[in-house]
Amino acid sequence: MSAQKLLVLGTGGTIAGSAATATGQSYAAGEISLDAMIADIRGLGLTVELVPKPIARIGSQDIGWEQWDALHGEIIAAQADPDIAGVIITHGTDTAEETAFLLDLTLDPGKPVVMVGAMRPADAVGSDGMRNLANAIRVASDPKAQDRGVMVVMGDTVFAASDVRKAATSNIDAFKGYPRGPIARVTPSSLDWFAPAHRVGSTARFQWPEALPRVAILTAGAGIDAMPVKALLGIGCKGIVIAGMGQGNAPRVVLDALAEAVRDGVPVVRSSRVDEGMVDRNVEVDDDAYVFVAARALGPAKSRILLMLLIASGVTDAKAVQAAFDGD
Ligand code: ASP
Repeated sequence: MSAQKLLVLGTGGTIAGSAATATGQSYAAGEISLDAMIADIRGLGLTVELVPKPIARIGSQDIGWEQWDALHGEIIAAQADPDIAGVIITHGTDTAEETAFLLDLTLDPGKPVVMVGAMRPADAVGSDGMRNLANAIRVASDPKAQDRGVMVVMGDTVFAASDVRKAATSNIDAFKGYPRGPIARVTPSSLDWFAPAHRVGSTARFQWPEALPRVAILTAGAGIDAMPVKALLGIGCKGIVIAGMGQGNAPRVVLDALAEAVRDGVPVVRSSRVDEGMVDRNVEVDDDAYVFVAARALGPAKSRILLMLLIASGVTDAKAVQAAFDGD
């Protein structure tokens, strides 16, 4: 039997990063080529065939439409190719949750799509990249990985794109999931799924857009006034996500300015700057009166991705936007 073939799409990040010294802090992301990484992993003797395809060599803080469009196109082609069993994306960790969620919302869940990164550059002492990549290969080549949507593999743990977020700046154990925790535990030689595949029979929630609209995240802080909202509207934002205090709160002057934005046709989603937890409707803010949307389980970064896709597909009405955030 021939070895399973996995497409590996490289975008850079710390997993391809190179440090000035093995023990220092400073490094540059995306320095190491995908071919070099694949050569290293082949040295481990894993029984899969890896097909490398570089997309970019950047830190994920610089990722955006150009790379997302290329990744989406490559994955659609791989899904249609009977020779390819699954797809791995090497990616920086800073925006992994955004790329993963965007792809998750716009791809059919069939073949496994696994995003992987690292917290330490490839040549740092105690680097986690090769192990994470070996783990990602283990996940992407597992038949039970089908129908789970896009996943993120970090530190022997597998998360669904809809749950995952980066929760620490430099700890090796930097990723958390909400509202679900990890969906599997993985090592290069073992894989334990915690539940059956949750997306069997489902399809992409959105078509791939022609472009994405400008949607901003505004973080609320004690004492802020309405000027930042006015500035965002002044530069033509088509939607605003507030990273509010607690359950998505903001000073009254800010809420009033956001209500004006809604009256001008700009949807407003209330999420929270707090790490974890639900933002429900009408708790301290009267969403019905303000015509706001509550982000529910989604944090600011994922809320922005979902709102961009909704606006790109012509959905701006608050009730319809709320239904999407409710998962309907
Ligand atoms: N800034 C890096 C990136 O997101 C961090 C990392 O990959 O861990 O590309």
